Amino acid sequence: MNNDVEKSDATNGASVYAPVSHWDIAVLGGGPGGYTAAFRAADLGRSVVMIDSRPTLGGVCLNVGCIPSKALLHAAKVVTEAQEMAEYGLPFGYAAPDINALRNWKQSVVERLTGGLGLLARKRGVTVLQGVGRLSGPNTLAVVGPDGESSISFDQCIIAVGSEPVTLPIMPPDDPRIMDSTSALELSEVPKRLLVLGAGIIGLEMATVYDALGSDVEIVEMQDQIMPGADKDIVKPLKDRISQRYRAVRLRTRVTAVDAQKKTINVSFVDGDGTESSQHFDRILVSVGRRPNGGKICAETAGLDVSTDGFIPVSSDLRTNLPHIFAIGDVVGQPMLAHKAVHEGKIAAEVACGHKAHFDAAAIPSVAYTDPEVAWVGLNEDQAKARGLKVATGVFPWAASGRAQSIGRPEGLTKLIFDTADDRLVGAAIVGLNAGELIAEATLAIEMGATATDIGRTIHAHPTLSETVNLAAEMFEGTITDLIPQRRHPK
Ligand code: FAD
Repeated sequence: MNNDVEKSDATNGASVYAPVSHWDIAVLGGGPGGYTAAFRAADLGRSVVMIDSRPTLGGVCLNVGCIPSKALLHAAKVVTEAQEMAEYGLPFGYAAPDINALRNWKQSVVERLTGGLGLLARKRGVTVLQGVGRLSGPNTLAVVGPDGESSISFDQCIIAVGSEPVTLPIMPPDDPRIMDSTSALELSEVPKRLLVLGAGIIGLEMATVYDALGSDVEIVEMQDQIMPGADKDIVKPLKDRISQRYRAVRLRTRVTAVDAQKKTINVSFVDGDGTESSQHFDRILVSVGRRPNGGKICAETAGLDVSTDGFIPVSSDLRTNLPHIFAIGDVVGQPMLAHKAVHEGKIAAEVACGHKAHFDAAAIPSVAYTDPEVAWVGLNEDQAKARGLKVATGVFPWAASGRAQSIGRPEGLTKLIFDTADDRLVGAAIVGLNAGELIAEATLAIEMGATATDIGRTIHAHPTLSETVNLAAEMFEGTITDLIPQRRHPK
């Protein structure tokens, strides 16, 4: 092993450019998947180099995704709650947001976390190189960084190059008023009228932020529901709330033309009935999905398989078609979520270090940090039926929850889905305040094979929103006393 890289104390933990070096494991991409894999492999005694094109570690999630969006969503929540307190006799009055201060605070949160990763890398002896890496052979990477080009050879490689926003050719190029999630998070201004194109999780979260900061928000979505793919009954409370707050939520509607004028952007729409209309906006956020980066690493040079849409196929031990090359995170497939990438990163590192490990999660939770939050895990009813399971639900409406009523947010719903063959929990969906935290209990219950009785007889503190999980199980069992049971004659 010849690790020629000269080490430096650059702020991100990056080492300066290395002409040639050899490593046990090279990790391409320093996001949640990549840094987890690099750190675990180093802890298991391997020499590790991690290459990322950004100046700071953390990938999309820490730099331009999960963390900055959640910081701004926290601010949005405080603003909205303060506004709504007027109804309870506590008028806080309107204060125009100080966008510069808010942007600086959001950035300070990002920098604290990304700086922490640099420190963790240094403490573990993981060498971090800034640069764009491409495969130059089955055991080599060419890296082009700020200081020039270098070559790295490796015994094993873990590819964690993530994904990027899908762009639309219909959008005018190089117009700063057309934003993707990254530029929307930069918060360069709060536009008077904002169109959010695409009602998936990212679009709806950014709509929540800009609405709270004062934009007049309009959403357009081609499908017939917001958050396509989530259960209709679970997204309904969110749809009801945003339909009141936003200027419009247009479903089954396509954008057919975008004309960028000097002062405004004119957008033409056609709805599901063929009716055409147009509106003008100050800014547009395009949030129509993310595309994996597998097609951008010269995979063919090494003989590595990549699908036509940019995903890298892997087996359950996260090996690609080349047994010494692994792939993890967004680049291997849905769901494109940080916690999935992290778990895959650990498994790939362990397998690369000779452990027997497989990625076989029974449940991966999804959360939209909207207001109210929407969260789901495991199977929904349609997926369960498609697998030949006979399922029944236990649904607890938050209107009957003392805690939900006392915080003025009774619109939530907790739904548990049980396999009637053995009463085991196979799926859950929750909408309401803190649904993203509440879904953790259902995730653990699915992984542990818990039954409705296990959940129903576990004592939950009163009054909490977590009780709604317990009460939904009781609804299924027919043992609930807080409401009329769904099953009148319990087993
Ligand atoms: P990434 O985080 O994408 O990291 C890949 C890294 O590799 C990047 O830094 C990239 O620059 C680098 N790279 C790519 N190609 C090369 C190359 N050739 N050479 C060197 N470096 C390269 N997920 C959640 O679970 N919860 C959330 O709340 C959440 N919120 C989100 C909000 C937004 C606005 C966005 C955009 C995403 C959000 N996500 C969220 C998704 C989450 O960010 C991703 O699932 C996660 O970052 C994927 O991790 P990864 O390690 O696969 O890749």
